[in-house]
Amino acid sequence: MTEPLKLYNTLTRSLEIFKPIKKGHAGLYTCGPTVYHYAHIGNLRAYVFEDILKRALKMNDYKIKHVMNITDVGHMTSDADTGEDKIIKGAKREGKTAWEVAVFYTVQFKKDIKALNIIEPDVWCRATDHIKEQVALIQKLENKGYTYIIPEDGVYYNTKKFENYEELGRLNIEGQKEGARVEFIEGKKNKADFALWKFSPKEEKRDMEWESPWSKGFPGWHIECSAMAMKYLGEQFDIHCGGVDHIQVHHTNEIAQAEGATGKKFVNYWIHNEFLIVENSEKMAKSGDNFITLATIREKGYDPIDYRYLLLTAHYRSKLTFSWEALTGARTALTKLKNYVVDFKTGSNNGDWKKYKEEFENSINDDLDTPKALSIMWMLIKDENIGAGKKREAILHFDKILGLKLEEAKEEDIPQEVKELIRKREIARTEKKWKESDETRAKLRALGYEVSDTQEGQTVRRIV
Ligand SMILES: [Zn+2]
Repeated sequence: MTEPLKLYNTLTRSLEIFKPIKKGHAGLYTCGPTVYHYAHIGNLRAYVFEDILKRALKMNDYKIKHVMNITDVGHMTSDADTGEDKIIKGAKREGKTAWEVAVFYTVQFKKDIKALNIIEPDVWCRATDHIKEQVALIQKLENKGYTYIIPEDGVYYNTKKFENYEELGRLNIEGQKEGARVEFIEGKKNKADFALWKFSPKEEKRDMEWESPWSKGFPGWHIECSAMAMKYLGEQFDIHCGGVDHIQVHHTNEIAQAEGATGKKFVNYWIHNEFLIVENSEKMAKSGDNFITLATIREKGYDPIDYRYLLLTAHYRSKLTFSWEALTGARTALTKLKNYVVDFKTGSNNGDWKKYKEEFENSINDDLDTPKALSIMWMLIKDENIGAGKKREAILHFDKILGLKLEEAKEEDIPQEVKELIRKREIARTEKKWKESDETRAKLRALGYEVSDTQEGQTVRRIV
């Protein structure tokens, strides 16, 4: 018997058995990208984790409705609702309109998702397509007395009016030093108050602005997620995900907006992934020299799926340190795995892998423990009592969760890394650098390739 699916709920700070609102169904909302730049690989970690969660829910026979937003307006460079709208910033940087920038980076983001073999959401929703819903939600909050206006600035949420405001983030707003969490804006009643609707600056015509009951302007970032999540998933739904950086402000504000408006519990399970850290560096950000995208990964000769494998080697709630050495390690492991899948095409169907199936599924159901799941797969590969045919069947079954595209592994796939080493060895041999030639041969062997020298040159054979 497989254990039931358990997930770590940020709301209760504990591991809980997943119990859906509607039997057999799971409603899932995941905060999407702000489309003003390419996604960096740190951003992408969240989407891979959410993809594993989705596949795990599917493994447990849930019918899933997954909604992801595209933030194409209103996400300010500072959490305090000051600074610039990120999309406008992107437009200035590139000499385009805000609309053009948003469309361009939405397309790029969807390409990244595809390259990482992430299953697309059932509903993509853009903030700019849902202004009406956001205005309606703000009006509802206004009618219930949750809002106030700061002249020439915007409509603000009065966080003091919402009793559970500090719950998700375990916040202590009063005890915080000024400016510790958010900067202070003139006219704000409480430190944590945030903008629901921002007024367009009088002196400037924005690319993106709309009429509203208050003044011409644009929605704040947080209101879009509450409005769209409730539109597509209902006032109460099962799971809401995002990075840990969303806990204290964005998700806290989403709860205040939704629960303030409906008086009902918004979401049952809040699940958050940890950061990706770049070696010798801070958290990855879009400014600074550690801005690595999938394009950077490809330029260096890696496949995006190598990166997916690397992500699965760490638990989603642990910080993961990215380095090129670690990515090389992931690529080597994935290459070996693909070779096994190809070689196992011919082989006996002896033995059965029931025990491994159960262990694999239990580790996934144990708060998505992908490192353990991977190790179980490697143990199966080494098990001499199970025939190759059965092993292949098992690996491909596991890959429905892991999503490493192992079904597509082909015989002729000599990885780039191996090709480069063969070339390097060829050069070493013509230059009679025998030591280097031998070292390269050893490296190839470690990758699962045996090279021999014939009169025609080097020939390469895969070893399993
Ligand atoms: Zn969101």
